[in-house]
Amino acid sequence: MPEVYDLLVIGAGPGGYVAAIRAAQLGLKTAVVEREHLGGICLNWGCIPTKALLRSADAYRLALKAGDYGLVVPAPAFDIARIVARSREVAGKLNAGVEFLLKKNKIDVIFGQARLKGVGAVEVLATQKPAVTPQPPKPKGALGPGVYSAKNIIIATGARPRVLPGLEPDGRLIWTYFDALKPASLPKSLLVVGAGAIGVEFASFYRTFGVKVTLVEALPQILPFEDAEIAALARKSFERQGIEVLSATNVSSVEKRGDGMVATLTGADGATRQIEAERLLSAAGVVANVEGLGLEALGVKIERGVIAVDGFGRTNIAGVFAIGDAAGGPMLAHKAEHEGVICAEAIAGKNPHPLDKTRIPACTYAHPQIASVGLTETAAKSAGFELKIGRFPLRANGKAIALGEPEGLIKTIFDAKTGRLLGAHLIGAEATELIQGFVIAMNLETTEEELMRSVFPHPTLSEAMGESVLDAFGRAIHI
Ligand code: FAD
Repeated sequence: MPEVYDLLVIGAGPGGYVAAIRAAQLGLKTAVVEREHLGGICLNWGCIPTKALLRSADAYRLALKAGDYGLVVPAPAFDIARIVARSREVAGKLNAGVEFLLKKNKIDVIFGQARLKGVGAVEVLATQKPAVTPQPPKPKGALGPGVYSAKNIIIATGARPRVLPGLEPDGRLIWTYFDALKPASLPKSLLVVGAGAIGVEFASFYRTFGVKVTLVEALPQILPFEDAEIAALARKSFERQGIEVLSATNVSSVEKRGDGMVATLTGADGATRQIEAERLLSAAGVVANVEGLGLEALGVKIERGVIAVDGFGRTNIAGVFAIGDAAGGPMLAHKAEHEGVICAEAIAGKNPHPLDKTRIPACTYAHPQIASVGLTETAAKSAGFELKIGRFPLRANGKAIALGEPEGLIKTIFDAKTGRLLGAHLIGAEATELIQGFVIAMNLETTEEELMRSVFPHPTLSEAMGESVLDAFGRAIHI
């Protein structure tokens, strides 16, 4: 008798592998099918390798201003091949870590391309060579093609780059994030299309190493989901660093010419302008991988390009679940992981709470870093709240000055009537680490009083968080 799994997960990204581990912890006989790399986009071609590249950029930026810290060192230089090699090594380590964790939890890994054959049946075919990424090795001990049975199936197939008409990636002149993560050499100029977190992080990385970067965004605001005040500060900072930022602008056409291109840009007023660039990075978001999975035949509901689910990852078909990017936004690794846990617990008959999407932090690891949780000022106003807003600049924070990183702001938004923290928006050094303090505060539903009574260690950047809260109530000490 072939084995019937309690749970079979399609896709071993942060959604899929975390769901599999949680299910195994709860005693479910679990398998995960992966066609490329364990760890998915996040560990191999997203969150982790970009942060490794940005770490090199941070180190280089610091080395360039070594003199400010009293250091006498030769002018720094860099080797892009080694920077890329380090980033790939870091990704490789994490990929091996996922292999270890799956094995430790006795989860079967099936290597190949999966599709649903019916409720409870999954057909796995041999992986075809992926178009952009190198052919991955089969994980040690992995099972191969065949038809597998499972009582429950989670679809965690993630997403891929959105392709804009006229900007079809060619791996040479027009890049996706796959190409931008492993450049053979640095282009002289780069046109980044899309100023969300991915576009902004790559713009920051390439600019630090001297590339002429133009950042184009179709909407009026870069980092469109962030608080307008913080996005405006980010824009100013990027412009000071020499990035040309063009918002409310579209790339209307691209003419490839030898080893570069001429792009025609159209502004909101219809005015056009041409710009030359060696490479173009299309960073206009991602689309969910929902095709070729046999979902239509089974009648699984897809809405606006993503699999429709309830708060526990249940689709409209019993026994079929979906999590992570494939199940909609925000398309972030930590959201995928949490959905994985909730979904596995629901399948195991536990009583998890559905994910509260209003408390999912968002981070952009550019220089400066940007991080937020909860409502922006505009959203809080349109929701009808009367607001108390606190602002504390990092230039008034002792630790930021000692670090030589005084650029930045911490903004907190409270409901004036109840003192509830509605949102927190940070820009500056370590913003992506600091934000978690506000995430916990929001999850514990702390009041402004409790936040003001919390002791922040001195000297730390976190003191600026406390001061921002104090400022919202007219009590800031250091400004
Ligand atoms: P994925 O990680 O995409 O994994 C899906 C897996 O399913 C893949 O491995 C794929 O090969 C496999 N698969 C697909 N179809 C099949 C099939 N039919 N059969 C078998 N296997 C299949 N998020 C953050 O939170 N923080 C960040 O800093 C961050 N940075 C990013 C930077 C970049 C450049 C990019 C592109 C994304 C970034 N993200 C970041 C987003 C994050 O990577 C995704 O939200 C996250 O990977 C989603 O996890 P997932 O498990 O849903 O899907």
